[in-house]
Amino acid sequence: MQQLLKRIHFSLRMLHRYRHALAKIYHSSPRHLRLDQISIATLKGVAVLVLDFDGVLAAHGEPEPAEELVPWLEACINSFGPKQVFILSNKPLESRIAYFKRYGVRCIVDVKKKPYPDGLQKIIALSGQPAEAVMLVDDRLLTGALAACIAQVSVTYITHPIVLLSKRPVSELFFMTLRFWERRLISLYSRLCH
Ligand SMILES: [Mg+2]
Repeated sequence: MQQLLKRIHFSLRMLHRYRHALAKIYHSSPRHLRLDQISIATLKGVAVLVLDFDGVLAAHGEPEPAEELVPWLEACINSFGPKQVFILSNKPLESRIAYFKRYGVRCIVDVKKKPYPDGLQKIIALSGQPAEAVMLVDDRLLTGALAACIAQVSVTYITHPIVLLSKRPVSELFFMTLRFWERRLISLYSRLCH
């Protein structure tokens, strides 16, 4: 509980600091962007791709990526190389780690959860690439995108996350509400507080 309160406090402090950067990420993102709509060929200047899991690669709580995204994922691993693709999830389940191990892709574990920048900083150190060459793909503004702002890496904001309402209605509704309010909060706060 204390950890959660600390993380919320940190998030609010960082929200204040990066409110304009977050609003820019939100307002400049295409509506209804899904992971497989990102054209890998257009990611020029990106040497390391970091993927969030829940909402991006699968619905919340799923053990493995959604089947329909596997072709995109494999093309991405082929293009970047397995050592330059990382999974950074606040929920690094064993099944997910085992899944990506088959591809030689690393899941980052034992770091403070996003929006702490620790996971991205670990990836920068492991990959040996500068922060500018790293891109995070995430469906949350106050966790992933905020961590990216702090770590100075670029971010692609997924505006059409994968949701399986019928399977986990309570947690999906919770995260849909979170996404809705964080968008409103960032939009409003960046306008009100110059
Ligand atoms: Mg997510």
